[in-house]
Amino acid sequence: MKPFLTHDECMGCKACGDICPVGAISFPVDEEGFWQMTIDEEKCIDCHRCEMVCPVKNYPESRTETNRSEPLVYKTWHKDPAVRYNSTSGGMYYAAAEAFLERGGVLVGSVYTEKFERAVHVAVKDREGLQRVMRSKYFQSDTEGIYKVVRDLLKKGEKVLFCGAPCQSAALHKFIGAKDANLYTMDFVCRGINSPLAYSSYMEELKAKYRSELKEVRFKDKSRGWTNLGTRVFFQNGKEYYRNRFNDPWVNGFIAGNLYMRPACFQCAFKKLPRVSDMSIGDFWGLNFTQEESSQGVSLVFSNNEKGDWLLDISRPRMFVEQRTLEEALQGNPAILHSAVYSETRKQFFALLRTVGFSEAVWRTMGSTARERWLKEKKHKINAFLSRFSILYRIKTMIKGGVR
Ligand SMILES: Cc1cc2nc3c(=O)[nH]c(=O)nc-3n(C[C@H](O)[C@H](O)[C@H](O)COP(=O)(O)OP(=O)(O)OC[C@H]3O[C@@H](n4cnc5c(N)ncnc54)[C@H](O)[C@@H]3O)c2cc1C
Repeated sequence: MKPFLTHDECMGCKACGDICPVGAISFPVDEEGFWQMTIDEEKCIDCHRCEMVCPVKNYPESRTETNRSEPLVYKTWHKDPAVRYNSTSGGMYYAAAEAFLERGGVLVGSVYTEKFERAVHVAVKDREGLQRVMRSKYFQSDTEGIYKVVRDLLKKGEKVLFCGAPCQSAALHKFIGAKDANLYTMDFVCRGINSPLAYSSYMEELKAKYRSELKEVRFKDKSRGWTNLGTRVFFQNGKEYYRNRFNDPWVNGFIAGNLYMRPACFQCAFKKLPRVSDMSIGDFWGLNFTQEESSQGVSLVFSNNEKGDWLLDISRPRMFVEQRTLEEALQGNPAILHSAVYSETRKQFFALLRTVGFSEAVWRTMGSTARERWLKEKKHKINAFLSRFSILYRIKTMIKGGVR
C-alpha cells in the first residue's frame, strides 16, 4: 500500500513499524533528522494494520470519550528536596513511578543512550532504572519496538506504567486495544518534539569545545533556579557548561524560535481535552510562585480518569498536593491547547546547521532576537545591582544621620 500520511503529518511514533507482520515498514531519517515512515510496497500484504494503529489517522479515538473533558487539576511537588531538584518540574513523575515500582510494576519511559547520543524508550524494573528514565530529554525519543515490549509484558500479567508524548501514548493505546486493564499511561504537556539531529549536533559542538565526552546532560537544570530554564552539561574531564534561557542556543531555538520541531507538531491533534492518557503532567506555569517554588519547580497534574486518580493516590504520601482549577492551568500553559506556530525560518536553520554548526545556525537564524533578550537580562542585572547599592547607601546615610 501507499503511505497513508504525508511527510508533514507523520509524528514518528513508529507504532506502524511494530504492528507490521511482514517487516515492510522502516524509518529512514529525513534531512532534518526525523524518522519518516516508509512502506516497502514489495513486502506489504495490504493488511492495513499500520493504518489502524496510527494515532494521527485514528484520533480522536475511544479513550477521549471515556476520559474527563474537565480533568481534575493539581499543583504538586515532591517532598524530598533531592528528588524535586533532580526532576524537570516538581517530581510528579518520580513519585508515581516509585510507588508503582513498589507495587511490583514495570516502568516504560525515555532514557539517554550510554554516551548521551540519543534518547530511546525502554522498560525498567528498579530504582536505578527510574533514575535514568526520569527527567525530560527535549528531543524525540525512539520508540521503535517498545509497543511490542509493552504488549508482551501485559501478556505476562505485568502492570506497566508508560510515560511519553501524547502521540506516543495514543499510539500505545491503539496498539494494545481494549486489553489494557494493567496498562497505566502518563503523557506530558508537549510544546513539540525536537529533532534528534539538532540535539546531536549541539552535543558534538560542546564535546569539541570542551574536548571531552559527555557525562550528563540536563535540560531545565535547577542549579540557578527552575524558571531560568538552564541547560547544564557535565563532561568526563570534570568541566561543566551552563547557560540560561537568554543565552543558551538550545532553549532559544526551541522556545523562542520553534526552529527544530517536528513539522507534525505544528498541527498537533493531541492539544485538546479530554487528554489521551490516564494522567498528564507538566509545569504549573502562571501561578504566583514563592521564591522556593520558582527555584525548585512545581508540577501540574491532570487526572484524566480513575486510573489517574489511583496514580495520584499512591503518590500522595510523597507529595505536596493542592487542588487547583482548570482555568489556572490553561491560562499559564498555552501548550496544553495550542500548537507552536510554524517558523518560516526553520528551513534556513537546517541549511545553516550543515555549514556553520548548531549554535551559530541558531544565532544567525534568529537574528538579533536572542541577543536582544540577552542584553535585556544584563541590563536588568545591572539595574538590580545599582538599586541594591542605592538602598544600602540610603540606609548608611540614615544611620549616620541618626548617630549624629
Ligand atoms: C519535548 C518535551 C516538551 C515539553 N514541553 C512542555 C511544555 O511546553 N509545557 C509543560 O508544562 N511541560 C512540557 N514538558 C514536560 C516537562 O518537561 C516535564 O517532563 C513534566 O512536567 C514532568 O516533570 P516531572 O518532574 O514530573 O518528571 P520528569 O522527571 O521530568 O519525567 C519525565 C518523564 O517523561 C519521559 N520523557 C522524557 N523525555 C521524553 C521524550 N523526549 N519523549 C518521551 N518521553 C520523555 C520520561 O521517560 C519520564 O517518564 C515537555 C517535555 C518534553 C520531553
